[in-house]
Amino acid sequence: MRWSRYFLQTVREVPGDAEAISHVLLSRAGMIRRLAAGIYSLTPLGLRSHRKAERIVREEIDRAGGLEVELPILQPRELWEESGRWSRYAEEQILFHLKDRKEGEYCLAPTAEEAVTTMVRSGVTSYRQLPVTLYQIRTKFHDEIRPRFGLMRGREFLMYDGYSFDTDAEGLDRSYKAQDAAYRRIFERCGLDFTVVQADSGAIGGSASEEFMVLADTGEDAVVRCAACGYGANLEKAETATRRAPWKDETEAPLVEVPTPGKGGIDAVVTFLGITAARMIKCLVYESDQGFVVALLRGDLEVNEVALKNALGVERLALASEENVESATGAPVGYVGPHKLPGEGVRIIADESIRDAVNAVTGAGRRDWHVAGFVLRRDANVQDWAVFAQARAGDPCVRCGKPLAIARGIEVGHIFKLGTKYSKALSCGFTDEKGETRPAVMGTYGIGVGRTMAAAVEQHHDADGIVWPLALAPFEIAIVSLNPTEEATRSAADALYEALGAAGLEVFYDDRDERPGVKFKDADLIGFPIRVNVGGRALKEGNVEVVLRRDKSVRLVPTAGAVEAVRALRGELAGK
Ligand SMILES: [Zn+2]
Repeated sequence: MRWSRYFLQTVREVPGDAEAISHVLLSRAGMIRRLAAGIYSLTPLGLRSHRKAERIVREEIDRAGGLEVELPILQPRELWEESGRWSRYAEEQILFHLKDRKEGEYCLAPTAEEAVTTMVRSGVTSYRQLPVTLYQIRTKFHDEIRPRFGLMRGREFLMYDGYSFDTDAEGLDRSYKAQDAAYRRIFERCGLDFTVVQADSGAIGGSASEEFMVLADTGEDAVVRCAACGYGANLEKAETATRRAPWKDETEAPLVEVPTPGKGGIDAVVTFLGITAARMIKCLVYESDQGFVVALLRGDLEVNEVALKNALGVERLALASEENVESATGAPVGYVGPHKLPGEGVRIIADESIRDAVNAVTGAGRRDWHVAGFVLRRDANVQDWAVFAQARAGDPCVRCGKPLAIARGIEVGHIFKLGTKYSKALSCGFTDEKGETRPAVMGTYGIGVGRTMAAAVEQHHDADGIVWPLALAPFEIAIVSLNPTEEATRSAADALYEALGAAGLEVFYDDRDERPGVKFKDADLIGFPIRVNVGGRALKEGNVEVVLRRDKSVRLVPTAGAVEAVRALRGELAGK
């Protein structure tokens, strides 16, 4: 492809609403164009990378035995009422919905459990027809509250969604594992460094669920990983083993008040009293749909609000306002005393990190005072115990005790063991060997195609632009003609372009009448894995320059051997 005949414009300006580096670089490289908030067009160049990601997904899912179908995007409300999802999604306000001329209501489907279950229900009657895994790769819609990050969180996006139907839990386990293996091959082929973590199953509901996370410092999710045993979890779900208690084997001291004028925060008290944060007991006041909650945990730890919410069994949970902290506990923020809380109207829950706390420091229940010699068992009336402290780097792994690391990542895929939730609600059953009717046991699977492409950019870029993994690059090779107006350069570049194309290689030819510097900048921004510079002194001496985008290394290659050299380098990048 010659740039002079292509539709491609790189841009210098960073889009005003861009927060993610992939959004910035894909826009600047001319691969995506914003049409409206969370809605993007793919240019010819952008579509090539997008299609490559899609093809890899399709090939591996086919290989794993998935059967491609096409399910309607426009789906009637009645179907979603049957599954019970309409009201739940409507409550979360993430469902795009509309009315037709007859006042019939429809949604633009974000996933297709209902539609696929209906398809299976109308065809499957016997256990002999199962298992089956159906999938599609189609446009999905989400009415995001705050669409952002370009292709990473759009309102319209391309997604692989797969659904397995089995006769029992063992069958589901096999289908789930087949998807898991396919996912691993997909992300490996895409050239991505990823990890698999236990995840919260969110609005879809179900038992086992795992997320595939592409690791990138700019990732929106924090994940906990154990290098020793492979344990991985979303930080929100990570379990931790018991930490060493700083008060181990101490004798109990009497409770005494100490003045701490103007020292409300943990850090201020720690500095003022010359103690460690682990010596303190933190008191956080929350408001929930079931009233006020005081959460107690060690001063050096942070609350994992998902874990706390689950432990309390409440629907809503948020930190109380300053006024409400004072009205609920009688003390201002920073001085709440666990021993001075009213017996009624405030529920006290403590993290296991302070189970045996003695001689700790905490609020005195009045402004400008704390207490020392606090013995939790003796001085406070804790109603509930749970583990809700956030995991930290260095904490012992629950499985093997080795230190955990925390990394950042982008969720690109998930797999769920759904069970019989939808097959029961939508009466999708089969007759077993004994002639009894049973609901199909389902799994549901998803991969964001555009998201995978964006995650690749998040993981592979530098100050100059994108560094595409070979498998997702819009074109693998770029030829840059240093001086297209000069006959010798033009004919050499044209000849190389023809020869590389004839050798079956994917080439983008920058034949524009621009300065070399401009062309190099554009090639680096777009991120072609291999660039061949044709012209200048190198050409006069019978050579071309072959530049590897990954490390900017330059190889001087005789013009006559350029095709072979490029082919060999490409093979190296492809790992062949
Ligand atoms: Zn471990």
